[in-house]
Amino acid sequence: MAILTINAGSSSVKFTLFLGDDDAPRASGIVERIGLEGTRLQYRRADGKTIVSPVVVADADRAVEVILSALVHPEHGGIGGVREIEAVGHRVVHGGERLTRPVVVDAEVRAYLESIVPLAPLHNPHHLRGIAACERHIPHAVQVAVFDTAFHATLPRHAFLYGIPPAFYAEDGVRRYGFHGISHKYVAAEAARFLGRAPAGLRLVTCHLGNGCSLTAVRDGRSVDTSMGFTPLEGVLMGTRSGDIDPAAVLYLMERRGFSTAAMNDLLNRQSGLLGLAGVGSNDVRDVLSAARNGNAQAELAVEMFCYRIRKTIGAYAAVLGGLDAVVFTAGIGENSPEIRRRITAGLEFLGLFLDAERNEAAASGPRAIHAAKSPVALLVIPTNEELEIVRETRRALAARTGA
Ligand code: ADP
Repeated sequence: MAILTINAGSSSVKFTLFLGDDDAPRASGIVERIGLEGTRLQYRRADGKTIVSPVVVADADRAVEVILSALVHPEHGGIGGVREIEAVGHRVVHGGERLTRPVVVDAEVRAYLESIVPLAPLHNPHHLRGIAACERHIPHAVQVAVFDTAFHATLPRHAFLYGIPPAFYAEDGVRRYGFHGISHKYVAAEAARFLGRAPAGLRLVTCHLGNGCSLTAVRDGRSVDTSMGFTPLEGVLMGTRSGDIDPAAVLYLMERRGFSTAAMNDLLNRQSGLLGLAGVGSNDVRDVLSAARNGNAQAELAVEMFCYRIRKTIGAYAAVLGGLDAVVFTAGIGENSPEIRRRITAGLEFLGLFLDAERNEAAASGPRAIHAAKSPVALLVIPTNEELEIVRETRRALAARTGA
């Protein structure tokens, strides 16, 4: 039995193939630069060897075809034939209010996903195309949708509502949905396992710090608050997103500068954050840190703002949870930048967070503890694995379907 995971985006389709109950992928890769010059397939075999080949792909449908032919390739492929794929687990950013757990995609689910496209116009249309392509090319397989918003469905009302009249929630769906849920759920479960504790009773703050950044307060294995909101723009500072900003400042700028909605959206989502603040032409924290080390004061300020907002949110979530058992770092920055982890945690000793400098700096890649022996609160680095979480959810959805 093989399960394929698919993450279809605006210009790429990522895939991972899993066999049986094996948590190690049999093959993985990406078709990238779809619709641009230099479209290519990167295909990674189980032995780690990566093959890169130029491909002619204009859309998700053709991308899926290309992926399937790579997967059945007699030399590099992971399966003998497409028929071996029993299910496809699709990463879908937005499940709206209704889809709060992984679901088998049927006409009703598809129609609901179509109806909530306005909530996630940059993501859901691409996911729907990915689903349609798999339905066409792997018609016998069960298509399962796994949602980034689902983990946050447990937010209490007082945490997910905004302070505007309730009609805008009831009629327009304006509320905090939260994102990165697949990652937050995975690292929260792995953190409990690492600590040798049951999720029940555990109070965690999970920090997903990649290009997009969000923090989640997790109690008893459930999300109780999260920093991203109606869209992924809210919360802490990110690579190119502003994070929190007074909405009145947005209105003021639109009026004063005559910005259109699209221009303002571009400014807040793509020209802000580390990119816009540091002004070093990069949203990569490594470039901003290196400019700061070379004396660039604006880059230093951007790093300080980045860490400050995360520190502030950890403090807020300590209040939400009534104390902390562990803070977990994950994703590109969280897993790989000791300097950012050090700067975030500096000053949080009053909450019982004591970093161990040596453990923090040590070159390592797996799940690890980076707190001092005397630290009452654990500080963990847990590499995220969204594909593994998607395949686990897909297996669960299949089992539920067959009543196994
Ligand atoms: P995405 O949110 O796109 O999935 P990732 O989780 O891969 O992103 O994170 C990408 C970011 O991680 C990069 O922009 C960079 O800032 C940071 N990053 C990646 N590798 C390192 C590293 N070795 N040291 C510091 N930061 C890193």
